[in-house]
Amino acid sequence: MSKNKSSESVKVVVRCRPLNRREESNGPAGSIVKMDIRLGQVILRNPRATASEPQKTFTFDAVYDANSKQRDLYDESVRPLIDSVLAGFNGTIFAYGQTGTGKTYTMMGAWMDPEKRGVIPNAFDHIFTHISRSQSDRQYLVRASYLEIYLEEVRDLLDPNHGNAKALELRENPDSGVYVSDLTSCVCKSIKEIEEVMNVGNQARAVGATDMNEHSSRSHALFLITVECSQPGPDGRKHIRVGRLNLVDLAGSERQAKTGVQGERLKEAAKINLSLSALGNVISALADGRSSHVPYRDSKLTRLLQDSLGGNAKTVMVATLGPSPQHYDETLTTLRYANRAKNIQNQPRVNEDPKDALLREFQMEIARLRAQLHHRKWRSKQKKEQVDGEDWEGDGDEETDGEEEKAVEEYVKLEEQRLEREKQDIREDQFMLADEKQRLLGEKERMMGDLRKEQEATEQLTAKYKAMESKLLVGGKNIMDHTNEQQKMLEMKRHEIAEQSSSEREIQQQMLVQDEETVELRETFTSLQQEVEAKTKKLKKLYAKLQCIKAEIQDVNDEHVRSRQELEQTQNELTRELKFKYLIIENFIPPEEKNKIMSRLNFDTEEDQWKFQPLVPAESKSLQMKKRPASAVGYKRPISQLRQGCHSDGTSL
Ligand code: ADP
Ligand code: MG
Repeated sequence: MSKNKSSESVKVVVRCRPLNRREESNGPAGSIVKMDIRLGQVILRNPRATASEPQKTFTFDAVYDANSKQRDLYDESVRPLIDSVLAGFNGTIFAYGQTGTGKTYTMMGAWMDPEKRGVIPNAFDHIFTHISRSQSDRQYLVRASYLEIYLEEVRDLLDPNHGNAKALELRENPDSGVYVSDLTSCVCKSIKEIEEVMNVGNQARAVGATDMNEHSSRSHALFLITVECSQPGPDGRKHIRVGRLNLVDLAGSERQAKTGVQGERLKEAAKINLSLSALGNVISALADGRSSHVPYRDSKLTRLLQDSLGGNAKTVMVATLGPSPQHYDETLTTLRYANRAKNIQNQPRVNEDPKDALLREFQMEIARLRAQLHHRKWRSKQKKEQVDGEDWEGDGDEETDGEEEKAVEEYVKLEEQRLEREKQDIREDQFMLADEKQRLLGEKERMMGDLRKEQEATEQLTAKYKAMESKLLVGGKNIMDHTNEQQKMLEMKRHEIAEQSSSEREIQQQMLVQDEETVELRETFTSLQQEVEAKTKKLKKLYAKLQCIKAEIQDVNDEHVRSRQELEQTQNELTRELKFKYLIIENFIPPEEKNKIMSRLNFDTEEDQWKFQPLVPAESKSLQMKKRPASAVGYKRPISQLRQGCHSDGTSL
């Protein structure tokens, strides 16, 4: 199954949205985020700092400033990932950042406007265009699912009953990793169909938003696309590669205010913080590289992204920033988060011939239907030839489907005509008795009915076969490719430019690192004065760096203290609630009832919940039903052996 064992790091890009009208009117402070696109750096200015305090600089795989276009981000940072998915890798793109910084804009965008289409609609175009341009010996099956995680519950956004549907469970299997059981999965044959799936899901999400306060900033949305491709290998057999793509729009990363909230609201806030802090812990544990335990199981989100973080997947993280001075702290946290994620190593590999490939099942089902249909048609054809008085020479296999169908239609028509003629003859026969006439006519009528039923069954089978076959997309067919050669060239050039600029950035970044490390070692000094000057300069540089790192340590410590305080606060509130419940239990529930309940409770680690064991264990259920006493067999009620003996002797007691 594995092909490419090499590991690669998570690709992290940062995007900053423009100042909005309200922020612009807030004053002249302007943006606190500056970007060096050529170097891939973000420079963050602390609006509260003194002029002497150095600015914070972070380096990423790519950065996109307020003027960046959706297309730029897609071509440079997403396109290579989708290409990998089409080649059979798992791929994940997730947008992370504070609410209102452009996560949804980046992932979804305004899909009606070609300029503003986000990653998801652009990926649709990309996938289906790729299929339409691939070779005709390839068959594809594309499926889409859409889910959200709200309050630690996984909900299917494509379920028509979304609002009332029960939460779905996560399962794991060695072939495809962690998955959601019973999740709706729609086979999509075109861009239009997959867009429809997206719209249905978006609408379900929007309904949730009006019901619940700030729903979208409190839920994670995952759009999943599975692309299966079957292609003949060098061994002549068809091989299937499966690429799974996760497109994730996370909940807003800001801390939910917890002060003063109680009950359900407290639990809600705690759960949202929990899943994002679980994500943070997973990223830290992976980036650190030393921790042996990665806490994937701490939240649904981290379990679903298990393969994407440190596993079998290629991953791109888009961290989104707002430029406003008001949100300096959040922006800095996002950048730190993103910076840590760069160190995560994944081990992507091509998923070849997995056991659960649906495409194989489809191919087998199509072959089965085809054989059935063929058999039916062959039978009809044989009958026709008997009617025609021709000898069947067994050359049916060489005929095409179209010819066969025509032959069958002809046979049915001829048969009908023949039966009609015979009926006419019977009616006109003057020597036949009325009863006999009726009987023969009835018989012919029944034969006609059988013929029609047979034809209907064949038609149904044909329709089923065609519907099944149409689900598979054949390379170079099915979808009209309207682009001309010129456009294709343009796309290719754009692709090349994107690749070039990203490799240029990589070289620049490497040069910068080398510069810092080696420059002073090679320098030879002509005079002592020059040496002093050069070394002073270097010292100043290093001193500034030291200050930066010191400030960073201070910051991280402060943040640590803050989050600890928050955790303590949550703990206090939860303890208070626990005490309250204890009070009720101790004072109002009889101890024997309490003991009974406690002996029946069991903790389900998979679902993270206490569960009641059934009163009667499932296996002993059958034992509960009293067996009929052996002495009662054959008698109305049990009787003694003595009496049984009397019965058989015919004597009475
Ligand atoms: P989030 O999903 O992170 O909460 P949104 O994507 O809803 O944020 O963005 C908030 C607002 O900012 C929206 O009105 C969106 O159109 C706008 N916006 C975000 N990013 C950009 C961008 N790069 N260019 C222009 N407008 C943007
Ligand atoms: Mg959003």
